[in-house]
Amino acid sequence: MNNSVLNWLIYTSNRFPNKDAIVDENGGITYLEYRCKSQAIARHIIDITGGITKKPIVVYMDKSKEVLVSFMGIAYSGCFYSPIDIDMPKSRVDKILEVLAPQIVITTKELKPSFEEFDYDGDYLIYEEILPKDDDERIVNGYTARIIDTDLLYVLFTSGSTGIPKGVSICHRSVIDYTDWVSETFKITEQDSFGNQAPFYFDNSILDIYTCMKTGATLYIIPKKLFYQPVPLLEYLRNNKINTIFWVPSALIVVSKLKAFRNVDLKDTLKRVLFCGEVMPNKQLNVWRKYLPNVVYANLYGPTEITDACTYYIIDRDFSDDEPLPIGIPMSNTDILVLNDQNRIVEGDEVGELCVRGTSLAMGYYNNLEKTQAAFVQNPLNSAVPEIIYRTGDLVKYNEYGEIIYLSRKDFQIKHMGHRIELGEIETAVSSLDEVTLCCCLYDENKQKIVLFIDSDVDKDYIKEKLEKMIPEYMMPGKVVYMADMPINANGKIDRVKLKELM
Ligand code: AMP
Repeated sequence: MNNSVLNWLIYTSNRFPNKDAIVDENGGITYLEYRCKSQAIARHIIDITGGITKKPIVVYMDKSKEVLVSFMGIAYSGCFYSPIDIDMPKSRVDKILEVLAPQIVITTKELKPSFEEFDYDGDYLIYEEILPKDDDERIVNGYTARIIDTDLLYVLFTSGSTGIPKGVSICHRSVIDYTDWVSETFKITEQDSFGNQAPFYFDNSILDIYTCMKTGATLYIIPKKLFYQPVPLLEYLRNNKINTIFWVPSALIVVSKLKAFRNVDLKDTLKRVLFCGEVMPNKQLNVWRKYLPNVVYANLYGPTEITDACTYYIIDRDFSDDEPLPIGIPMSNTDILVLNDQNRIVEGDEVGELCVRGTSLAMGYYNNLEKTQAAFVQNPLNSAVPEIIYRTGDLVKYNEYGEIIYLSRKDFQIKHMGHRIELGEIETAVSSLDEVTLCCCLYDENKQKIVLFIDSDVDKDYIKEKLEKMIPEYMMPGKVVYMADMPINANGKIDRVKLKELM
């Protein structure tokens, strides 16, 4: 019976004690070291708290293997982790600390003074000062054994519309289910190596961290600077024999845009290219597919609230540049309900909101019952027993193959000149143009204009001429803003908040 993700660390460190578990710029850590160091951290936590379990502990460190060791240390102690981005502004960190009220902060000597600027006066654990002792495992086992699978494993903060960050709270069971699905579906073994892009405070990293831990694959933390240098990035994948990547589309697009494949051949290296987090334009995916035709490509979809992803589509046919890529079908042990405005299941190609049912659902937003109850609601199709579904706020429809097609966020659906428009549909059309790599559409309510942001200087009339063949006149952008550099947010996605400020 798997009651916690830690069973994987124990199992894998017994099978492959000396195999590299995680490698970063400063070298690697073996599976046995991973386990021993995290048990040492757990013991220090227990010493500080006197053994109080089920409490939040913050990790405030540069992205590195030590962050993941700290995560597991916290889990071993029976508490749960919450990473805070070291580049996050003070006002937001203070809001997070108010919501979370952490017991301890794990940080480094160098970063402690920065954390002391925040509204926090609790305990610190300094990573460099933690030394393993012989009886760590024995002491820690007493706490680990009491974990049940519905105990929280982590809280990840996402932005809230009110300005108060929402702490998505995920238990062990949700991660176990998801990781089992990933490793079985993509047949991951200890022979594989992952190239991690996602920051550890972003839920895409869950796939990387736990799939490796379960299977014994090695996780390479790719230095962030390489994501601005496609050729060295591909060389890094080749030199480290990384055969699996799970990145946000924006990161994949940087590579296809500059056709870096011409300089670095990955045909014998890369086996799986998975992506999630935002729309992947087929025009860009087609470049990847052209250069690397034998790779397994998969589009995963889902918000943090359902543990990273809940639907998937393994690419199995050709798509033209202007077609949308399906987000596919539900993962196993997950049910998707597409509900219309009357809370009924949609029919045919009717548009509805994607709602999720199943073990993957978060327990809610930490210390925020009001927001939790607004998004995690009773299944309207079940009046017999309590059953919670998560309303994603994403609008979707089914195609003729019974696959789900993502249209846009509900809040990106606008009414313009009486027409109901999904801004995502315009973006799909624009991103199919050869001259455009990244684009984003927003609606200027005051001026009643659709504003298109593009990263190319292609003429406005030319865009209009091309778009006329793909979208109706009423969907035509009223303003085009040319961006030399498209702003990208901390998770690597196009930064819509920044673009809104430029409107
Ligand atoms: P996050 O919680 O930051 O992972 O963001 C989740 C949101 O990103 C979803 O609700 C969608 O709006 C969007 N998203 C995630 N994956 C995809 C995908 N494969 N295609 C289109 N949009 C996606």
